[in-house]
Amino acid sequence: MKLDYIIVGGGYAGVMFAHQLIKNNKSFILISDGVRSASEISAGVCNPVVLKRFTGVWNAKNEIETVRNNFSEMGPYLGQNFINSENLVRIFHDDIERDLWLKKSENEDLKDFLDTDFIKLKSVKNDYLSGRVHYSLRVDVKAFFRSFYSYLEEHKLWLKEAFDFSELNLGTNTYKDFSFDKIVFCEGVNVNNNPYFSNLPVKGNRGHSILISSDAEVDPYIIKKKFFLFKTSQKQFFVGGTYEWDQTVLEIIPESVNKLTSGLEEIFDKEYKIDEVNVAFRAVVHDRRPILGCHEEHENMYVLNGMGARGVMNSCFFSKQLFEHIEYKKEIFPEVDIKRFQ
Ligand SMILES: Cc1cc2nc3c(=O)[nH]c(=O)nc-3n(C[C@H](O)[C@H](O)[C@H](O)COP(=O)(O)OP(=O)(O)OC[C@H]3O[C@@H](n4cnc5c(N)ncnc54)[C@H](O)[C@@H]3O)c2cc1C
Repeated sequence: MKLDYIIVGGGYAGVMFAHQLIKNNKSFILISDGVRSASEISAGVCNPVVLKRFTGVWNAKNEIETVRNNFSEMGPYLGQNFINSENLVRIFHDDIERDLWLKKSENEDLKDFLDTDFIKLKSVKNDYLSGRVHYSLRVDVKAFFRSFYSYLEEHKLWLKEAFDFSELNLGTNTYKDFSFDKIVFCEGVNVNNNPYFSNLPVKGNRGHSILISSDAEVDPYIIKKKFFLFKTSQKQFFVGGTYEWDQTVLEIIPESVNKLTSGLEEIFDKEYKIDEVNVAFRAVVHDRRPILGCHEEHENMYVLNGMGARGVMNSCFFSKQLFEHIEYKKEIFPEVDIKRFQ
């Protein structure tokens, strides 16, 4: 079968690139092993502010706009828009932090994001009040991936397997029975095992998240103190995620789960039960920018990786940028261009 593209990897990067192909009537298959990805266990939050220090996120407004556009473009073929527009609300640790927020809200790059009309949440402990972040939003992660994968399966666009590099022939541009024009690797942290791109400085940052159930009412926001807390369904809530550097083992670590529950209990004093614990590696780059572009020697081979802690925003924005670069020779931002490592 002759295809325009093969995509390898089915997390945010892979499915957002697939969306560009669907939108532009390109033929493709997406090859992904079906292993639960970092994307599938993520909170799905899009947030234009670094909430530890109250600083702006590079390119945030453009990226959030692209997230909204992408999801409304997907609506017609997925049958739903998976965006919840509930704002993110940051609980202040003390007066000093709240004053810092006020000061930072005067900065040019933050004034549109940091609301200075502080609110008092009813359901959680927030003695020093809480600040709302404008432009923040959340993707309904579980429903989105369920729907996107169903679409791919229905249209026979998903090959559920680990990509077998021994079956890739770059002389004939074939993989097994498929011939293709371009191949795009969107493998997350597994890029470290890709013989063509393993030289890229992508590292794994391990993250745990939990789903809890509780009868408690929780204010309808994405609540953030140490971790995110928000409602995912009638009685279920997401809590997460941890940031664990220099870890290589992918397994559930009780100490990390304890961090999540003690962070939760700092603000939430109602009864709850843990329903599910998840763990995965975020693919991060030391300069905190994604990596996209063409392989040095193979002109039909591309990479889209390094989505970091902002997988939704980065994948939506940079899948489009990569597609337009490949098809229309548009420039890739130098900050994210693979050339910085070649
Ligand atoms: C706990 C936690 C919470 C997070 N919360 C947020 C959040 O709120 N907002 C946000 O924007 N981001 C969040 N992130 C980060 C986000 O999840 C990542 O940036 C994003 O998942 C990266 O997407 P990706 O497509 O590059 O990789 P991945 O999600 O890792 O997906 C890659 C997929 O491809 C498959 N694959 C890889 N190589 C191959 C191969 N050779 N053959 C076949 N299949 C292959 C993998 O098995 C995997 O399924 C969070 C991450 C974690 C861990």
